[in-house]
Amino acid sequence: MRATYHPLVPRGSPGLVSVVIPIFDEEETLPLLFSRLDRLLSELGCKGEVVLVNDGSSDRSIDLLLARASVDDRYKVIGLARNFGHQIASTAGLEIARGDAIVLMDADLQDPPEVVVEMVRKYREGYDVVYARRIAREGDTVFKRVTAWLFYRLMRSLVHRDLPVDVGDFRLMSRPCLDALRSMKELHRFLRGMVTWIGFAQTHVDFVRPARVAGVTKYPLRKMLLFAWNAAISFSVLPLRLSFLAGLALVATAVTYAMYSLWRIFTGAFVVPGWMSLIMVNCLTSGAAMVGMGILGEYVGRIFEEVKKRPLYITSLTANVETAGRLGEDPSWLSHSFDARVERPTSG
Ligand code: UDP
Ligand code: MG
Repeated sequence: MRATYHPLVPRGSPGLVSVVIPIFDEEETLPLLFSRLDRLLSELGCKGEVVLVNDGSSDRSIDLLLARASVDDRYKVIGLARNFGHQIASTAGLEIARGDAIVLMDADLQDPPEVVVEMVRKYREGYDVVYARRIAREGDTVFKRVTAWLFYRLMRSLVHRDLPVDVGDFRLMSRPCLDALRSMKELHRFLRGMVTWIGFAQTHVDFVRPARVAGVTKYPLRKMLLFAWNAAISFSVLPLRLSFLAGLALVATAVTYAMYSLWRIFTGAFVVPGWMSLIMVNCLTSGAAMVGMGILGEYVGRIFEEVKKRPLYITSLTANVETAGRLGEDPSWLSHSFDARVERPTSG
C-alpha cells in the first residue's frame, strides 16, 4: 500500500521549540548535555525551552537538574516519584511541553542536539513529524547492532507496516500531532509506534548515531527484550493469531498421525510400540494449549491493568513549570497524577 499524500503548507519558524529529555542516572552526561543544549538554544533562531524529566534516578542527577533550572528558566524540571521507565518519563515530559514544535531526545548525546536545527527546517517546510534516522551507529557493540536491526524489522510486521526502521524516539512533532498523541491513553506505551499510528505528514533527517558520551546504557538486554515484547503485545493481536495457528498445525499433525495409524492397522502392520509418538503428541498438544493460554493471559493481564485506570506516573517535584499551563487546561486522565505533586520553589 502506498503512503498517504499530504499537501505541504510551508510555515514560519515555530514560536517556541520544546526539547523533552528523560533522564535516568545521567550524572556524568548532564554537564556535557547542558552545554550542547545551550548552544542549540542559541542556534535555533526562535524561542526554546528544555523539559528535563528525572525518571527516579538513584544518583544525584536531580540536584544537577534543579541547579540548572534555578539559573536558567528556559529549563523546566519534573521529578517522577520513582523510576517509571523511558517511555512513561518521555510521556510526562511531553505533557509539560508547551512548544509549537516538540523534540524528544535522549540525555546521553547519542541524539546530537545539532540535528534539531535540521528538524526545525523540515517543520517549516510543513511536516508534522520529523524523525531522525540512524544511517550508522558508532560505538555500539556488534550484538547491539544485530539485535537492533532485528528489532526494527520485526516491529514493522508486528506494530505497523509504516513504522520507520532504524529510528528511535528522537523526533520532532508539531503541536497538532502532539495533541493527538496526548489523546492516546494506553498504559503500555510504545511511543514511536503511536506516532506512526497517528499519521500526518512524516519525514526524516539522517544522522550518524555517536557513542554515549559518558555513563552506561540504561537498556540492558533484559529491558530491551521487555521493550520489544511490550511493543508487540500492546500493538497487535498477531501473537494471539499465531498461537491459534500453532494449535491448528498441531491438530492437523494429530489427525494425520491418526490416519496413518489406522492405515497401518488395516494393512496388518505391527502397531503396538507407539507409546513414544503417543507421548510426543500428548506433550505437543498440551504444550500448545499452555502457550496459547499464556499469550491469552498477557492480554487479559493488560486489560486488568488498563481497567484499574491508575495514573500513568506520579510526580514528586517540579521546577519552572507553570501550573496554569497545559496541566490545568486539560483535566484529563493524566492530570490527576499531579495531585501528588509538591511544588518547590527553585530559588536558593
Ligand atoms: N532512561 C529513562 N528511564 C529508564 C531508562 C532510560 O529515562 O528507565 C533514559 C536515559 O537516561 C536516556 C534515554 O532514556 O536519556 C535512553 O537510554 P539509554 O541511552 O541508556 O538507552 P540506549 O541508547 O543504550 O538504547
Ligand atoms: Mg543511549
